[in-house]
Amino acid sequence: MNALLQDKNILIMGVANQRSIAWAIAKAFHQAGANLIFSYQDERMKSKLEKFISSEISEPVLLPCDVTEDDQVKELFEKIKAEYGVLHGLVHSIAYAQKEDLADEYVHTSREGFQLAHDISSYSLVAVAKRAYPLMADGGSIITLTYQGSVKMVPNYNVMGVAKASLEASVRYLAGDLGPRGIRVNAVSAGPIRTVSAKGIRDFNSIIGQVEEKAPLRRAVSVDEVAQAALFLASDLSSGITGEVLYVDGGYNIVGV
Ligand code: NAD
Repeated sequence: MNALLQDKNILIMGVANQRSIAWAIAKAFHQAGANLIFSYQDERMKSKLEKFISSEISEPVLLPCDVTEDDQVKELFEKIKAEYGVLHGLVHSIAYAQKEDLADEYVHTSREGFQLAHDISSYSLVAVAKRAYPLMADGGSIITLTYQGSVKMVPNYNVMGVAKASLEASVRYLAGDLGPRGIRVNAVSAGPIRTVSAKGIRDFNSIIGQVEEKAPLRRAVSVDEVAQAALFLASDLSSGITGEVLYVDGGYNIVGV
């Protein structure tokens, strides 16, 4: 237990199961003393989430929010305002692309698939930041999750890489807007981790294999290492940092061959 986030109200968006990166982040933030609020994508997930979250965190607060629905986003933040008044942090750990767009060649991406991936994986950060910042009256930290397919061509990552490039640019523009209000916006660029989302990417095992072979640390990173970096970005330890993409990938992104 540390007290890095003692009494901070933090919204965690994107826990789907025990393998989710957002769940590892939630556990680290809970250990650090934060009051957590969870949002989930759809009603069918609620009872499963309640079960495993309550095994670690007593009486968890779970609120619905499909980020493609503006009304749901609005309602989520209205409820948080009514219940907590102030928000200190937000973790956006959400992405989606159609399976066929993560397997075929990028050149065959449909207009609909492109729009959907960008709406859920990139625009949603803007949609939630817009509602979150008025609640961050004491300043705050907004964190999103990205991947280096945004800046390098990673086979099969396709439209998701293009959406992540947009997300990272959004981090910089949001940081510019919200910095004068004392709100920091950063991204953690995680190395490949076996989660449900990752399963959708064809040949994901070979992406992990490349990291194990070539990354300076000669291994893939753990979800807990990603969570510790998010904890740093959520806490005052990173009070001078905004608009950044922090790589937690065993150093893989620096390798040239
Ligand atoms: P995950 O499947 O556990 O999490 C993805 C989450 O997105 C789920 O909770 C899902 O419910 C949510 N989501 C999708 N559409 C939504 C919608 N319309 N409304 C609300 N929520 C929605 O997988 P994960 O790997 O933990 O992914 C979390 C984040 O980490 C994503 O942004 C992903 O791109 C990023 N990331 C993952 C890896 C990896 O290798 N797993 C690496 C780098 C970055």
